[in-house]
Amino acid sequence: MKAAPAAQKRLLDLAELDSVLDRLAHRRRTLPELAVIDEQSRQYAQLATQAIAAETEAGDLAREQTKAENDVDTVRIRAERDQKRLDSGMVTSPKDLSSLQSEIASLHRRQGDLEEVVLEIMERREAADAKVNDLVAKRDELATTRAAAEDRRDAALAEIGKEAADAESRRSDVVAEIPADLLALYEKLRGQYGVGAAMLHGGRCMGCKVSLSIADMNRIKAAPHDEVLRCEECRRILVRTPESGI
Ligand SMILES: [Zn+2]
Repeated sequence: MKAAPAAQKRLLDLAELDSVLDRLAHRRRTLPELAVIDEQSRQYAQLATQAIAAETEAGDLAREQTKAENDVDTVRIRAERDQKRLDSGMVTSPKDLSSLQSEIASLHRRQGDLEEVVLEIMERREAADAKVNDLVAKRDELATTRAAAEDRRDAALAEIGKEAADAESRRSDVVAEIPADLLALYEKLRGQYGVGAAMLHGGRCMGCKVSLSIADMNRIKAAPHDEVLRCEECRRILVRTPESGI
């Protein structure tokens, strides 16, 4: 393949811009914020699930407390009714009086037991509510932290996007100066090796850093200026410059 030396030199500018674009793409993929946001999202989901479970438990206990309080009321009302009957003096038979008194005493004991149950539920409910508050606070705090990480990620991506757009625009200018067949070869090699063209510098290919043999250097010295050369080691396009050592 033949190409004007100036066009061949432009390949080096193209390779430099492509390496800038590769670095930007790598930075975009490996932003530290991405891992941070992933981890925070995982923790957030965990806390949100725990908060829902705690809220369900607190809700169950609230209903349990209402039911237990209703039980206390039922027993208390029955005891009050019995007490009224006793106080009314309508019950006169000693047997009925004794039975009524015994029922009132039994109802009071029952009420005491049920009030214990209410207290015990209230304590559990208090602990459950505290757990809900704690989990919700942690979850919301994490949401705020994650939003800040997302802002940092977006700012970094915007910055990378600006640099990439700048490099892309410079790249289009360079591409316009390279003949189609040379550009196609460069792109093919870039696809294969990551870098399509390298400078011959002081007798070394700067693509693979291998020093060329005297025989290869002699071959290059003898080659016409517009001959497109390839590194025998890495197969990249080898571009001659005044620093090539030939
Ligand atoms: Zn090489």
